[in-house]
Amino acid sequence: MSKSKIMIVEDESIIAEDLADSLEDMGYIVVDIVSSGEEAILMAAEKQPHLILMDVILQGEIDGITAAEEIYSSLQIPIIFLTAYSDNQTLQRVKATNPFGYIVKPFEERNLYLTIEIALERHHYDPITHLPNRFLFKSKLDEILSHKNGDNSGNLYHINESHKHQNFPKIPIFYISLDRINRIQVTLGSNNRELVLCNIAKRLKESISDIEILAHLEAAEFAIILKPVKHKKNAIDIAESILDVISQSMVLGSDEVYVTASIGITFYPLDGTVADELLKNANAAMYHAQQKGGNNYQLHKSKTVVISREKLSLETNLRNALKRSEFHIYYQPKVDIRQGKITGAEALIRWFHPEKGLISPAEFIPIAEETGLIISIGEWVLHTACSQTKVWQEEGFAPFQIAVNLSRSQFIHRNLQERIIKIIQEVDLTPNYLELEVTEGLVMQNERAASRIMKAWQNYGIKISMDDFGKGYSSLSYLREFPFDVIKIDKSFIHNIMADSKTEAITIAIIQMAHSLNLKVVAEGVETQAELEFLQRHKCDEIQGYLFGPPLPISKFEQLLKEGKKYI
Ligand code: C2E
Ligand code: CA
Ligand code: CA
Repeated sequence: MSKSKIMIVEDESIIAEDLADSLEDMGYIVVDIVSSGEEAILMAAEKQPHLILMDVILQGEIDGITAAEEIYSSLQIPIIFLTAYSDNQTLQRVKATNPFGYIVKPFEERNLYLTIEIALERHHYDPITHLPNRFLFKSKLDEILSHKNGDNSGNLYHINESHKHQNFPKIPIFYISLDRINRIQVTLGSNNRELVLCNIAKRLKESISDIEILAHLEAAEFAIILKPVKHKKNAIDIAESILDVISQSMVLGSDEVYVTASIGITFYPLDGTVADELLKNANAAMYHAQQKGGNNYQLHKSKTVVISREKLSLETNLRNALKRSEFHIYYQPKVDIRQGKITGAEALIRWFHPEKGLISPAEFIPIAEETGLIISIGEWVLHTACSQTKVWQEEGFAPFQIAVNLSRSQFIHRNLQERIIKIIQEVDLTPNYLELEVTEGLVMQNERAASRIMKAWQNYGIKISMDDFGKGYSSLSYLREFPFDVIKIDKSFIHNIMADSKTEAITIAIIQMAHSLNLKVVAEGVETQAELEFLQRHKCDEIQGYLFGPPLPISKFEQLLKEGKKYI
């Protein structure tokens, strides 16, 4: 059996020499003696000892505890502390590093020997690469997951849809298999195969940062747990650089050898919450990479992964869109059915992505909600639409109401009520020219807050409309209990009036009921003359739809205002 290599970190040279002698007597090899934390970090990487004996108080800036943390996190070399210090504070700091041993000076040699042997036993390293083995890898993964799963943040790790898209921290796990490694063994012999493994292990260790643990599982298989990442893309970048690093040529004697790898990637908690499941899925993804011919990575395949990858790139772009002025507001006219004139407009956001072109709000608003970006986007919309409306008023156009959509997460955001009032004050718009469109679902999920916030707005003079009525639950009680001024009949209803007599009857009932509650009724999505006539007959108040005009950019909408045309 080969002798274990030990490094000593101790600033008193006499003690260090003594210790070295004892260790040699016990049958270990002392690879180095260093006296500062800085040196310890450097030499540990260079000498790759199996174990380090570390003093706490050292020369230099970095003490033994900090050096140990650094060394263990990057190299996973087990560390035993040797110190005369045993005060509580020091002990607490030492404990927090999960040391493999803690020996208070002076100590008996027997005690030292036992502690070292236990530490080496606990860290049963792979003898070829000196990396942690499968056993250690599993226990490290278990340890990390038990922290996470037992998080006191309650159901944080209970998986729901939002975790898949939010920049919610995810722990990436890589399962790496070297392609065609058996060929190397056959053609170059098993010694060379070991050299290849050691070389790859060294490259991996040196090239990847943010590693929690790198292990040699067996044969040609390695595994990595990375530190949590916000975006899958961060892990994918690392996988790509690993493929790169591995595929660089290596010289064995007179031969130049090329090795490639297949990588399977899973993320905690998206692809599993227990070690076995995550490893199994990573392994399956790795096979998938092998089937694709090797030298590539594959994410654990579930349908959601594919979707969320696309969303991920949208999300990154969305973060910059405000800064880069990629958002615009389009204005869609609302026409009063009796006067036949424009009496309002709905502000609808548009995103002009530099490469992808126009992206529909239906596509990016949900992502903006999940990521919290909706707060700043929503405020931008409100501010821009209100100040544009003020500009139109100052230019002498007949004042009209501007309607702005509010989304769910905007609604539950703190201070929403005050912030909206503040924006109106800033742009100096008379409050009753602003109408906020909220959906039934939004009110339903936040009944108490909704009631309080909506009443405050109403007192201030802001109008509130229930958007998409008829689409969801269509609760009439909400219309009665909450201070709505307007109800917008959903376009799906309007499109069916002509085709379905039941829809027709319900639409008539909605209009009558809304009027009995003193609500103004707006029909959205009106596309045909027949729909208009029906709504006229049944005394709907306002019409919005392609029949009169789609959402338009400022200049085009201004053109309509200038024309002052009578639509009906
Ligand atoms: P919404 O509030 O129901 O807006 C009406 C949607 O119907 C708009 O889609 C509009 O372009 C479309 N539309 C208007 N007339 C017609 C018509 O005659 N026929 C048909 N088929 N469609 C018509 P858009 O602009 O794509 O917006 C989709 C949704 O995105 C909006 O539905 C709204 O929920 C959301 N949204 C848009 N802008 C904002 C915003 O600034 N903030 C928030 N929170 N949500 C927004
Ligand atoms: Ca709306
Ligand atoms: Ca609507």
